[in-house]
Amino acid sequence: MPQPHTLKISEIFASVQGEGLRQGEATLFVRLTGCNLKCDFCDTKYAWKGGENLDTEQICSRIEKESRQMPADWVCLTGGEPLIQDVRELTERLKEMGMKIQVETNATLYQDLSVDWYTVSPKPPDYFFQPEYREKAKEVKLVVSKELTLEVIQRMRNEFPEKIPILLQPESNRKWSREKGIMLLKECTTTGLKNIRISLQLHKIYNMK
Ligand code: SF4
Repeated sequence: MPQPHTLKISEIFASVQGEGLRQGEATLFVRLTGCNLKCDFCDTKYAWKGGENLDTEQICSRIEKESRQMPADWVCLTGGEPLIQDVRELTERLKEMGMKIQVETNATLYQDLSVDWYTVSPKPPDYFFQPEYREKAKEVKLVVSKELTLEVIQRMRNEFPEKIPILLQPESNRKWSREKGIMLLKECTTTGLKNIRISLQLHKIYNMK
């Protein structure tokens, strides 16, 4: 008998989406283990390794269990980098359950999925992203790290349609990073770049996961 397809999962939990345009909405998170990058500023390094092998039905039943604590319309696949594993079967099953699906990705990998929302977050040093995301991204999230410059934001603004917001997200809400974000926003507006916004990690302010 064929073995069911499994995914390595770091954690499944109910919380509030703290980042980006969906900020503040109740969301069920599936954090997948592993990442193909190793960013210094990563705030989920614990998800690079470990985790549990779960098949699609096990993941969905955990999601249903979590949703009893906080019912939510949305499931967010995050990591680590969720797309280093094949999540097609999981996304199909979540759609059958009537869930809306968000994928948070560093954008170095692409899978043709039926999902509602891609949060695209290219990373230093080269801020590479797969070309499909030019059309698919609902938002672009740039961590205000030491490496982020006006030139990078200009490049992203040229690559993604102007209607797609570029969010400057401070590194773990740190003061220096918030200040740098405001400085970059001023430079963006001075040079005429449109639809650039500063943001915050709301879940950290609320002491949530
Ligand atoms: S891409 Fe994201 S999950 Fe991966 S190391 Fe960088 S910040 Fe962490």
